[in-house]
Amino acid sequence: MMQTVTNWARNITYTAEEFGRPDTLDALRALVAGSARVRVLGSGHSFNRIADPGDDGLLLSIAGLPPVVDVDPTARTVRVSGGVRYAELARAVDAHGLALPTMASLPHISVAGSVATGTHGSGVGNRPLAAAVREVELVTADGSTVTVARGDARFDGAVTSLGALGVVTALTLDLEPSYRVEQHVFTGLPLAGLDFGAVMAAAYSVSLFTDWREPGFGQVWLKRRTDRPLADFPWATPATRALHPVPGMPAGNCTEQLGVPGPWHERLPHFRAEFTPSSGDELQSEYLLPRSAALDALHALDSVREAVSPVLRICEVRTVAADEQWLSPAHGRDSVALHFTWIEDTQAVLPVVRRVEEALDAFAPRPHWGKVFTVPPKVVRGRYPRLPDFRALAQQLDPRGKFTNAFVQDVLDD
Ligand SMILES: Cc1cc2nc3c(=O)[nH]c(=O)nc-3n(C[C@H](O)[C@H](O)[C@H](O)COP(=O)(O)OP(=O)(O)OC[C@H]3O[C@@H](n4cnc5c(N)ncnc54)[C@H](O)[C@@H]3O)c2cc1C
Repeated sequence: MMQTVTNWARNITYTAEEFGRPDTLDALRALVAGSARVRVLGSGHSFNRIADPGDDGLLLSIAGLPPVVDVDPTARTVRVSGGVRYAELARAVDAHGLALPTMASLPHISVAGSVATGTHGSGVGNRPLAAAVREVELVTADGSTVTVARGDARFDGAVTSLGALGVVTALTLDLEPSYRVEQHVFTGLPLAGLDFGAVMAAAYSVSLFTDWREPGFGQVWLKRRTDRPLADFPWATPATRALHPVPGMPAGNCTEQLGVPGPWHERLPHFRAEFTPSSGDELQSEYLLPRSAALDALHALDSVREAVSPVLRICEVRTVAADEQWLSPAHGRDSVALHFTWIEDTQAVLPVVRRVEEALDAFAPRPHWGKVFTVPPKVVRGRYPRLPDFRALAQQLDPRGKFTNAFVQDVLDD
């Protein structure tokens, strides 16, 4: 009987037969080779059963392997072990005067787990975190190592892979010269007359927040690079004190605002690395859809806001640039990402998730792989034109389906 292991939000208790936390690569290889079914657990920040191997499987954590963050300043790359979290990676990279182009809203998530689900930040020109990856090292079903680098025909399936190809032990990422960012928060942006394209392009990274109690956005967060020209933001009112995106919550855990310049990794996430919440009383859902449909989709959400707002903590609207990963929710289309942080009551939230999905259905939304959704698997599959290529890759690297589970099987089914 396995010890009880839950995800960060504690809405999922993993049903594995065994929990493994090897402390050497050889021990990891042996564990993988000797197990019939394996799923890797990253930092556990997903809200569904994507990481759950099922009751006959091994839940494998790589957090016990020696952490590697090996920066090559000349090549402007970093080789990082899969279990390292973005906070740790960012600090090491910044110490060499280098940077990542984008980060998610919190830095406590593991690198391998984040890129496996297509995790993203915001910015009209910013692709998902996986776009920085140039090489992935995998321990595959028989315990051997396979390295897939950009340029390899398999590469576009190998990064955002839902953990279905093997254990990602290390990744090499592209870096750029370090930059500084100022964060400015504005309040009161109406939905009526919203020039979505201009608002979202007004800074390097822009997020809109609403609790849908009113038809508009209570807050707009702008992250401006100090090495780029400053654009005006005439559509809303500058905040005069630091704010938390959820109305009424203390801003102390949020990254510095009020335009104080700081290193990229202390401004791009919304939440501070020093504040480490071990669990959260919330659920999350998110849908990526073509950016050209953003305004229509926002009006569709506005039409269901009376159903949404009672179970919603906050909704965040971001933009994500198209990438090439076959299973990326931003695959092949510049996207708007509509995110919902719900209260932790699954029973109350699920019917509202369905209402949101119905409201957005006309825009062919792709659900975030790591969050709560009820879109039927067949419909999800139909939204990924390169799914047949991914199926073939999974069959090639993992012919017996050692790294599948019920969640992945739903994706791979023909
Ligand atoms: C508070 C909070 C804020 C968030 N903010 C954002 C955000 O801003 N943007 C966004 O897009 N998402 C966001 N997310 C979602 C989160 O980024 C994803 O769920 C991400 O996958 C979490 O990474 P993890 O390491 O915790 O992965 P886990 O949940 O542990 O695992 C996710 C998947 O990755 C696989 N995996 C993990 N490690 C490995 C490995 N080494 N080898 C192979 N497979 C592996 C797992 O098997 C599983 O399939 C947020 C989540 C939380 C809780």
